[in-house]
Amino acid sequence: MQPKPNIVHLPVYQPGKPVDDVKRELGLTEVIKLASNENPFGSSPKAKEAIAREVENISIYPDGAAVELTNAVAKRFGVNTDQVIFGAGSDEIILMIARAFLVPGDETIMADQTFPQYKHNVQIENATIIEVPLKDGTHDLQAMSERVTDKTKVIWVCNPNNPTGTINTADEVEQFLAKVPSSVLVVLDEAYCEYVEDPSFPDGLKLLAKYPNVILLRTFSKIYGLASLRIGYGIGRPDVIRSINQVREPFNTSRFGQAAALAALQDDEFIAFCRAENKKGLAYFNKSFAELGLKAFPAYGNFIMVDVKRSGQEVFDALLRKGIIVRAGHKLYPTYLRITVGSQEENEKVIAALTAVLQELAVKV
Ligand SMILES: *Cc1c(COP(=O)(O)O)cnc(C)c1O
Repeated sequence: MQPKPNIVHLPVYQPGKPVDDVKRELGLTEVIKLASNENPFGSSPKAKEAIAREVENISIYPDGAAVELTNAVAKRFGVNTDQVIFGAGSDEIILMIARAFLVPGDETIMADQTFPQYKHNVQIENATIIEVPLKDGTHDLQAMSERVTDKTKVIWVCNPNNPTGTINTADEVEQFLAKVPSSVLVVLDEAYCEYVEDPSFPDGLKLLAKYPNVILLRTFSKIYGLASLRIGYGIGRPDVIRSINQVREPFNTSRFGQAAALAALQDDEFIAFCRAENKKGLAYFNKSFAELGLKAFPAYGNFIMVDVKRSGQEVFDALLRKGIIVRAGHKLYPTYLRITVGSQEENEKVIAALTAVLQELAVKV
């Protein structure tokens, strides 16, 4: 049997190591995982109650169109219900966009170090990938706009960018959109937008109102703390949403995902708490890195990317032995670690461990 030639070389996704495996392998009792930008405060208690109620219905298929949740999201963001689509995480919306819009030979533009699912999914469709270097860890939107040709179909902009954590300002994004032809779909991935307080950060909904070739991607996995339930959404122009709906699997989101998302969306208090704690965590990391003589990219999401000035993999391994899981191995930033903002207690343990590791490694050299 022969699979599609363009998938033969694709790697199988390597998830961060599960906490229990690390505990067992290293004989540790306490392990802190700050590798996947999960919410250290869990999720809204309202979401848990909604799931408990939904247990009664597990033998019944979910509502494929997620009508109730669609209504709630549309109302919350002031758009029509035909402008909203749900996926099994925004990962699945990325997949569906690639599936619905790209054929072999189409060109698609993205940054050279950004969320890996864009590249992964467009490779499956055999589209031609144009990667544009980040500038100081930030999308170079000017350079990206210059790479548009009459073959360009989709452009991916991750704001804040994962893994660097940087943002593009409203002015930058707007100038970019003004240059991109209206026939090109611009995906604005705003997985971390609820964390961003900087006044220069764009309001995606305003951009969508002015530039209908935009689709916004958002998720319940990050600030809402529902990563395991796999639910995210897209907001766009009705005909774009319809095209994506045409390739959507009939029951792509679960009852639990829909019920929990609906409840989580109403709990503004929990979101405000997470945003405030995250802000303190980022300030603590920035201060601690400065004290260690390390530079980090300006961070706006719930993670920060720091230059440890030696092999990031080596520091990663040493932190792992101390029971701390972070993220290394970024192809263009081999000396950087990406660290999720945890609770204050977790953040202090990470900085203590990092301080010790950097001292140990410095002595070794
Ligand atoms: C986490 C993340 C997503 C998707 O998360 P889902 O769990 O699939 O909703 C999308 N984009 C970026 C940039 C992310 O970091």
